[in-house]
Amino acid sequence: MNSTATGGGVAELLHRSVRLHNLHGLRTRWLVLTGEPDFFAVTKRLHHRLHGSPDPVGELGPAERKTYETTAWSQAEQVLGRVTPDDLCVLHDPQTLGLAPYLVDAGLRVAWRCHIGTTMQAETAQDTWQFLEPYLSAPLRCGFSVDGYAPPWMERDRIVILPPSIDPTAPKNRRLPATEVQSLLSAIGLQAGSTSGGDDRVARATHVLQDRQLPAGAPVVLQVSRWDPLKDMTGVLRTFVDHVAPARPDAHLVLAGPEPADIPDDPEGAAIHGSVVDTWRTLPSQVRGQIHLVNLSLKDAEANAHVVNALQTRADVVLQKSLQEGFGLTVTEAMWKAKAIVASAVGGIPTQIRDGREGLLVSNPGDLERFGDAVVRLLLDANLRHRLGTAAQDRCAEEFLVGHEFRGYCSLYVELLQ
Ligand code: UDP
Repeated sequence: MNSTATGGGVAELLHRSVRLHNLHGLRTRWLVLTGEPDFFAVTKRLHHRLHGSPDPVGELGPAERKTYETTAWSQAEQVLGRVTPDDLCVLHDPQTLGLAPYLVDAGLRVAWRCHIGTTMQAETAQDTWQFLEPYLSAPLRCGFSVDGYAPPWMERDRIVILPPSIDPTAPKNRRLPATEVQSLLSAIGLQAGSTSGGDDRVARATHVLQDRQLPAGAPVVLQVSRWDPLKDMTGVLRTFVDHVAPARPDAHLVLAGPEPADIPDDPEGAAIHGSVVDTWRTLPSQVRGQIHLVNLSLKDAEANAHVVNALQTRADVVLQKSLQEGFGLTVTEAMWKAKAIVASAVGGIPTQIRDGREGLLVSNPGDLERFGDAVVRLLLDANLRHRLGTAAQDRCAEEFLVGHEFRGYCSLYVELLQ
């Protein structure tokens, strides 16, 4: 169970993981928690705080606990109506953790899988673990993406490390021939060219804001992310305008993210997207013509996956300029496509990329100049792009494909059943 069926890495993982479980004979259902906006406002704060971000709203107090527990209690009732005592239950992320005590009291075996966190000893993160402590003792096991994300006081034998993974056969990651990439990008209007009939669906599910189309063969820098402050799409825009475009007036930036209204558990999306659009509108026309803003409707998951795949395959350099990052599946996806990656050395990203080996890392995510320099360096050096991209693909194949994660889940189930 998690809190959204679309948008973000957890939904992406679960689509594939649930399918794989069932293919292997583990009868698995995916439940999605529903809640009111006040609940998601609290859980979004938990998310940012666990990433170590300051919380402008203030402390987490009794009012937040009441909001959190009211939804947890009513959702637990719903779950209990749909399971048997023999079922194993895996709750994902802080939105669902509050259900754990209710489910355990009813006799279910429960694990909690947390996809976010920080290894920094940030005060907001510590306070948030205190807020979550009453629910944390219920799950038999707690799974984290990165060793070091667990609260420092949690018993080691309850902690499981489960690095996320991607499915190389999924629409988002399957190999796309150049003609298909061209046809998909033409279908959404990003670049000129003829489109084939089957791409109507993709066109309907995508909205592109641009002054002019992407010229064929132009170098492309891409970031695909939710419109979340921690993904720093505005910082990517500024990096490109101030530090990439002056050196490479032929380069183009594509910022792609979901249609904000399609992610109910992400209440900030519309505001962040709006501010990126506003900034784009105020840019001088030359550089504005080099920047393309893509919105993908998540209502059509397959169309979204095709477009993300085409954008990632088309990109020359993939950026992930996150201020914090649980794991960063967008990085994994770009690795699999053998892309040259420039990313912040935060959260799970350095567990995937070693600086200078599988990509270039920037230790201070706020350093726009460093990011810009790294992008320009890669745009100028095809050999370096090839070397880093090939190494990234090899590492992804060795460590971050779906079979590894599935084996991790199987071990977890064995532990739950003991
Ligand atoms: N994604 C997508 N469409 C978008 C933006 C993101 O399909 O418009 C996908 C992206 O391809 C990746 C996931 O959402 O699979 C994001 O996962 P990640 O771990 O990078 O970040 P999260 O959103 O979970 O913080």
